[in-house]
Amino acid sequence: MRVNTIPPVDLVRQYKLISEEVDLAVLDVVRSGRYIGGAAVSDFEEQFSQYVGTSHCVGCNSGTDALYLALRAFNIGPGDEVITSPFTFIATAETISMTGATPVFVDIDRTTFNLNVDLLERAITPKTKAIIPVHLFGQPVNMTQLMDIAQRYDLYVIEDCAQATGAKWDGKQVGNIGHVGCFSFFPTKNLGTCGDGGAVTTNDRVIADTIRTIKEHGSRQRYYHDLVGINSRLDTIQAAILQVKLGYLDRWNQQRREIAQQYHNLLKPISGIQLPQELSGGHHVWNQYTILVENQEEGTAVFRDRLRGELQQQGIISMIYYPIPLHLQKVYQGLGYEVGAFPVTEKAAHEVLSLPMFPDISFEEQQQVAYALKDCLSH
Ligand SMILES: *Cc1c(COP(=O)(O)O)cnc(C)c1O
Repeated sequence: MRVNTIPPVDLVRQYKLISEEVDLAVLDVVRSGRYIGGAAVSDFEEQFSQYVGTSHCVGCNSGTDALYLALRAFNIGPGDEVITSPFTFIATAETISMTGATPVFVDIDRTTFNLNVDLLERAITPKTKAIIPVHLFGQPVNMTQLMDIAQRYDLYVIEDCAQATGAKWDGKQVGNIGHVGCFSFFPTKNLGTCGDGGAVTTNDRVIADTIRTIKEHGSRQRYYHDLVGINSRLDTIQAAILQVKLGYLDRWNQQRREIAQQYHNLLKPISGIQLPQELSGGHHVWNQYTILVENQEEGTAVFRDRLRGELQQQGIISMIYYPIPLHLQKVYQGLGYEVGAFPVTEKAAHEVLSLPMFPDISFEEQQQVAYALKDCLSH
């Protein structure tokens, strides 16, 4: 039997639904001759800050730059420690290192894949300056508990919202809970553009101004440089596309929530896998639908990897986010963490499998995923 391949994401399908609007937005910029900055960028910043609910938004080149700029704005540097999760994309820790500060990891919670807030306090030292909670896969961290700890220890909170645009904790948008929110508009994120893009949101005027200065070569006035900065622009064409797409974000996130619910119903009867859950108090936006494949051989990924290969033979392309936790990456050998330092994270790295998830996946395709999973797990 020949089956259709089901990709992890299908960006063309989404483009086709809004192609007229996107094409016009791009052409408008190309025809205007205004290729750097301009109204497209400032209008998007205005609309995005309104969406998130903050008084400021500064566009930049990527989610990575957003994190770096936020850390720099709080003067974080050599001698400082910043706490985050070891189960995230490298950018979260890498940007801490880029400032000269040291990333300090805290193990995750198995049901949410997010930093375990109960373990946070014991990682705080006199050198700790900030916490970067990562709202992984679209699920918000318990921000009530986290902000309480941050306030007691006087720590900055930089939310990594890259995978969670539109997610809410206790009714409040992520990116409007900590001191700053860092967003990525990489194509596969919930609000993804046709290239790179990022933004920082905050209610602090001074921080917003500092971020704007750093991202413009440390300059407030052209050719007068106050700080060592970088060049990080939200591209004008990307900003124009993002304005169009922002109008659809809530609808797409709602579709993702419905797809997650469908997966839940379809996969519930299958044994040998653990399904992701939505924490009460949170509004999950499902950038990924990630299951745990219970391992038969403890301490290896053999079983999960074999399942992934078998699914692929049936046309289902699944992904592994993330195969190697950050504390065990070569780049962080110098931090001195050993295997076993974060058992929940390490076990998750062996067991996670992200299934195809995008707003326009059809019910038939989801059925095909479920059927293939059941088939592969039953022998
Ligand atoms: C994508 C991502 C980033 C980085 O975003 P870019 O725009 O690709 O630089 C940072 N953190 C997390 C958790 C991400 O998923």
